[in-house]
Amino acid sequence: MSDTYSTNPRTLGRGICIITGASKGFGRALACEVTHLLDPGSVLLLVARSGTLLQELKEELQSFTDQQQLTVHCVAADLSTREGVNETVRMAKHEAVNDIDHVLLINNAGSLGAISRFESLSDLERVDSYLSFNISSALVLTAGILKTFPCRPGLRWSVVNISSAFALQALPSWALYCTAKAARKMMFSVLAEEEPNVKVLNYSPGPLDTDMQEEIQRLTGISHHLFPCQESAAKLMKLLLDNDFSSGAHHDFFEV
Ligand code: NDP
Repeated sequence: MSDTYSTNPRTLGRGICIITGASKGFGRALACEVTHLLDPGSVLLLVARSGTLLQELKEELQSFTDQQQLTVHCVAADLSTREGVNETVRMAKHEAVNDIDHVLLINNAGSLGAISRFESLSDLERVDSYLSFNISSALVLTAGILKTFPCRPGLRWSVVNISSAFALQALPSWALYCTAKAARKMMFSVLAEEEPNVKVLNYSPGPLDTDMQEEIQRLTGISHHLFPCQESAAKLMKLLLDNDFSSGAHHDFFEV
């Protein structure tokens, strides 16, 4: 499938790439990696709440790319809100260039939530708010972007769900995080079944040296061996470049 979509199979084509949670951590590393793989005329949309961090990243990316080749836009948006999701879809529509041959949406933004025993998760609003950002927002954003760029011959469509080993494995005190990652995996697997023209990849990035892991260590006292975000981001890019995963599959950093 991949060869028909790009003149150079070692690039991701002339695309629009949308990365949520791009201001730091894994999303930031993904932005740095993907920048080298997009053909001239591509657009990169960086989404997160922190406009300042996004702007800094944009400047860094532009310092090592030709601005004629890649247009980078920052969308300072809170994806836990309807306005934030709508603004991201609106920007994607607005910034899309003609003749793109690849739409790449990377649903990376996520949060850890409370790490606490089941019986303490008794506040409906707090639970809803967590699940809304970590599940519903990714669903609604993906739906909005799918509607904005209808499938057509010659258009490669890729959706990445940044998943976790905890989409598959139950861990005591991690009800929120495990539930959200498991639900997202199913949600994107349904998309894969429904849309044969959309390649869907669930990617579990491995334990990464990010603020989220710092938070895990602070809350649990457990420290893992952590990998640099760049290493995992490069593995994800290789999966996308090779494009021979089956749609809806769940791939793990340790198995790639
Ligand atoms: P970080 O907490 O370091 O970064 C999270 C990113 O999401 C930031 O860019 C943050 O930006 C953004 N974000 C958070 N809340 C919102 C919001 N309401 N609206 C928009 N953006 C938001 O996390 P990681 O980089 O560690 O994790 C990235 C993904 O990888 C997550 O889905 C995580 O579950 C997954 N993962 C991480 C692992 C790890 O070891 N770190 C292991 C397995 C999976 P801002 O604050 O500016 O909004």
